[in-house]
Amino acid sequence: MIFCQLSEYFEKLEGTSSRLALIDILSDLFKKSEKDEIEKITYLVQGRIAPFFESLEIGMAEKTVAQSIASAYGLTKEDVIKLYNKLGDMGIAAERLNSKFKIQNSKLSVEKVFEVLTKIAKTNGEGTVEKRQNLLIDLLKNMDSSSAKYLVRIPLGNLRLGIGDPTILDGLAKAILGDKSKRKLLENAYNRTSDLGLIAKTLKEKGLSAIEKLTVQVGKPIRSELCERLPNPEKAIEKMEKVDVQYKYDGFRVQVHKNGSNISMYSRNLENMTHMFPELIEATKKQVHAETAILDTEALAYNPDSEEFLPFQETTKRRRKHGIAEMALKLPLKAFVFDILYKNGKSLIDEPLSKRLEILKETVREDGVLIPTKNQIVSDAKTLTILLEDSISKGLEGIVVKKLESKYEAGARNFNWVKLKRHSAGELNDTIDCVILGYVTGKGKRISFGAGALLVGVYDQEKDEFISVSKIGTGLSDNEWREVHKRADKIKVDHKPARVNSLITPSVWIKPEIVIEVLADEITRSPIHTAGKTIDEPGYALRFPRLVSFRDKDKKPEDATTVKELIQMYKDQSK
Ligand code: ATP
Repeated sequence: MIFCQLSEYFEKLEGTSSRLALIDILSDLFKKSEKDEIEKITYLVQGRIAPFFESLEIGMAEKTVAQSIASAYGLTKEDVIKLYNKLGDMGIAAERLNSKFKIQNSKLSVEKVFEVLTKIAKTNGEGTVEKRQNLLIDLLKNMDSSSAKYLVRIPLGNLRLGIGDPTILDGLAKAILGDKSKRKLLENAYNRTSDLGLIAKTLKEKGLSAIEKLTVQVGKPIRSELCERLPNPEKAIEKMEKVDVQYKYDGFRVQVHKNGSNISMYSRNLENMTHMFPELIEATKKQVHAETAILDTEALAYNPDSEEFLPFQETTKRRRKHGIAEMALKLPLKAFVFDILYKNGKSLIDEPLSKRLEILKETVREDGVLIPTKNQIVSDAKTLTILLEDSISKGLEGIVVKKLESKYEAGARNFNWVKLKRHSAGELNDTIDCVILGYVTGKGKRISFGAGALLVGVYDQEKDEFISVSKIGTGLSDNEWREVHKRADKIKVDHKPARVNSLITPSVWIKPEIVIEVLADEITRSPIHTAGKTIDEPGYALRFPRLVSFRDKDKKPEDATTVKELIQMYKDQSK
């Protein structure tokens, strides 16, 4: 495929506000893709040249891209920056400047552009900036204006066509399998490997049977199993009978992969975090007795002087790109290992939890930075209540109870794992993670910050849509309003984005990217919100919602609370 054909698809994808149309366009694109290019095209649709979990970022600064555009089209960097400041989008600036050259019939293939972008990403050492610029200039000189628009957005990391991973899977299913009936098999393979390019290539080259055989691989994160909620220990025993009880540590999830001396680590939202945690790399080498292994852990910052674990606000300071060594000394991490998913070439995800925990204890040596979690088997509500109170008195979040015979269901949130947390009067016993869909302009004093209330939504997994659940005006300081406004304005759009479903039209729509944690008193039924709304039934909404924190460091919009969870929480609150 020629790159300008791909950019025509980008143009169509960007222009639609309907999810069904997105699937049709993707399906057509995947049908027209050759076997040896579909993997690359899948990554490019995501604005990348590798799966999300690989840290291969092209990452060019705005100034460098501006200089490349200037050199390609015979202008000065200042000219380009001036236009960029006026338009607010480097892609459109490149498109406008290129159009004067009337380059048509560009024969640059997707293959070639992908190769050059990869070269740019891998360039390092002396003269990197110049070498990268030259590579980009060569491409820009040989492109039509629409291709130039999309090309420059890729190294800047803002292609953002607004397509979620489930929609890509839908597009693949439609293109290659004809309909959605076997889509679940694609989703399962995705949950095991997190690699959409690999799935596209395997499906196109070898068909569905090869997809079923795609198994867990070291170096490709497995999508994390998550917890359901139940209101109290009694309900947990009633539903699950005999459970394995573990503390719920309030840090961040780290999936550790060991391949000989090669260690890599991934966050819950599949980000590669390997370089952030040098002490976990060393500990894995020392403490894990296996040639290859995948461990599921929760990492926490630890104060070696007082021998105390630190609260989440401290731990989260370790998620950073710079000053890593210094921070590792100040806030060293410990990681509680609560599962093992792979050992010595064999996937363990289909083994029952009881067996995995046995293997875990044989594999991870005690005493060190990695700590195998303590666990206890319980089958009565009284003991479970004591363990929940014990965890709370230790300053932890609560407990996680797990069905002993359950497999590791990658990417699933169901009653295999249930979290029990402390409960405060007048509040739901858990927060809700919402995605900001837009904002309503404020009145009075707030007008100067540009935001008066945020329109937020939850995620509908079935439809891959964000559906409105609340308007939030409380819990933000003036500074936070300013911050929200600044961030929102970078991603504002002039029409309702595809994958957003709301009856309320805010003053400004934004792309659904920013995740916030919200606390509410209760969940109520409401005709004005679309979450859970059907033709006959009203939707669900939050009563007295307030912002607790920004969660987009560790959560993608698709990791927000789902409408299914919201409805379950609604049912639980009356118990
Ligand atoms: P929350 O916002 O309450 O932390 P969450 O949305 O991040 O929840 P949940 O599925 O509700 O995710 O809770 C599971 C999370 O709890 C895991 O992702 C993990 O980070 C953390 N956790 C802490 N201890 C454990 C444990 N023993 N077993 C499983 N997960 C644990």
